[in-house]
Amino acid sequence: MRHLALTGGIGSGKSTVAQFFADRGATIIDADAISRELMEPGQQVLADVVATFGDHLLDETGRLNRQALADVVFNDDDARQRLNAIVHPAVRAESKLQLKHAIEADPEHAVIIQDIPLLVETGQAEKFDGVIVVHTDMATRLQRLKDLRGMDADDARARIAAQATDEQRNAVADWIIDNSGSLQDTKAQVAAVWKELVN
Ligand code: ATP
Repeated sequence: MRHLALTGGIGSGKSTVAQFFADRGATIIDADAISRELMEPGQQVLADVVATFGDHLLDETGRLNRQALADVVFNDDDARQRLNAIVHPAVRAESKLQLKHAIEADPEHAVIIQDIPLLVETGQAEKFDGVIVVHTDMATRLQRLKDLRGMDADDARARIAAQATDEQRNAVADWIIDNSGSLQDTKAQVAAVWKELVN
């Protein structure tokens, strides 16, 4: 079993690379995806969030209105902390459970890749058997965030500036996947890393 972390700056292509590893047979644990699932109707986490901040967070169908939640925590550190205190432990517990299940399913050969955008910022690199960093040059990231996400250039720059630098991330990397080029090129790099991982 190998338990790896996958990280990279915003818009670097973490989800894209994670999907290429999943296609090869890796199990992906994605905290963002888990936190979205935990906010679905019927989930205890959603119920706790609504109990804390009010049912104006729900739309008429009972789903979370993400913008309403973003408005509640925007510029309010206390509210953000209360939200994190509900969501983070639940995401950690679910991640642990998924890890346990993946190991049980294939104790010897499982390759489990945990997608952790803020790996470096939260000092978690040491917890893993290895770290895969997705690196994409700044101009390409800004262009993709603008073209594919409609993100404003200043907004994108501000988010990038709030994260660790490429140098800080690359310093903890066991493998660096350069996603500045074509998807085909990235896929070939993933194939090479995968070969190492399973050998
Ligand atoms: P975030 O930091 O927001 O979670 P991410 O690091 O997971 O993003 P992706 O969502 O994988 O990044 O990629 C960002 C965007 O760029 C997506 O729209 C994706 O389809 C596109 N993209 C990723 N890699 C490439 C590539 N090599 N060529 C062209 N487009 C790409």
